[in-house]
Amino acid sequence: GESADAPQSADSISVSIRFRPLSESEYHSGDEIAWYADGDKIVRNEYIPAAAYAFDKVFGQHTNTQEVYEIAAKQVVKAAMDGVNGTVFTYGVTSSGKTYTMHGDHNSPGIIPLAIKDVFSIIQDTPGREFLLRVSYIEIYNEVINDLLDPTGQNLRVREDAQGTYVEGIKEEVVLSPGHAISFIAAGEEHRHVGSNNFNLFSSRSHTIFTLMIESSAPGDEYDGVIFSQLNLIDLAGSESSKAETTGMRRKEGSYINKSLLTLGTVIGKLSEGKASHVPYRDSKLTRLLQSSLSGNGHVSLICTVTPASSNMEETHNTLKFASRAK
Ligand code: ADP
Ligand code: MG
Repeated sequence: GESADAPQSADSISVSIRFRPLSESEYHSGDEIAWYADGDKIVRNEYIPAAAYAFDKVFGQHTNTQEVYEIAAKQVVKAAMDGVNGTVFTYGVTSSGKTYTMHGDHNSPGIIPLAIKDVFSIIQDTPGREFLLRVSYIEIYNEVINDLLDPTGQNLRVREDAQGTYVEGIKEEVVLSPGHAISFIAAGEEHRHVGSNNFNLFSSRSHTIFTLMIESSAPGDEYDGVIFSQLNLIDLAGSESSKAETTGMRRKEGSYINKSLLTLGTVIGKLSEGKASHVPYRDSKLTRLLQSSLSGNGHVSLICTVTPASSNMEETHNTLKFASRAK
């Protein structure tokens, strides 16, 4: 049989860049376009002609999230419905558009609601199989895993059994409709407020992981024909460098974030190269708990969000370099 840690084929990993438009405040403070999409695979810089980066896909500033979903997430969702683990990340500095892309807002649904809608329509279109869907929603803050669906689920541990890695004691809710699934996100967001006096700052410092667990079987074949997979939809902590951080607490947060994002980049980079050995899953909680999903034939889509603004040129450059290393 196939080893759980068999090397990945490179086409199961995709790295894309999504530009957002200049924000009102960037525009009013005289920002200009520095980085921009040149076609749908190249990023260039207005001021540094030699700087160019190539990716699987580059989404220009006027792309809507539905298009991002179709190209950078839909295949991952479809494969997950066929039993192949999948993970979609949004990576970038604070206010680059990670949450807009992953969760969306009332005008523009994000990848999570679009994926949920797709999952239920695939179920409708697959009368020959019976599906059981469960969701979980957790947060990693300073390398501590907290359950957003259960306020008593604090500091959860990652364990490993014959099936792979899992979070011990995590709350899983069976969901029966798209609205039902979405309702658990709203409930989870409520719990993120607990103990934080500056929600925006706090939220930019944690990774959130929304997971759909998908089980299916053909009727009458429940014993040996059960297929199981996991679809992880992850809004990562802000990737900004923490140089300016002065207080001890902020510095500590920054170093945890840097380490977990650095580890994530290394892990995805190794998998892209088809290497199955010396992948440092254990170096962060995030990669450790995702080990089963990322290894083997799991699909991965890393969507890096950036602003074109000249005032953020250096931070955007860091994101582009990170994305380049991961592909
Ligand atoms: P992050 O989660 O990376 O901190 P947000 O997703 O909260 O950033 O985005 C910051 C602001 O920019 C929000 O007001 C959001 O609505 C807006 N925004 C982000 N991406 C886009 C986009 N592609 N198009 C229009 N507005 C966007
Ligand atoms: Mg955000």
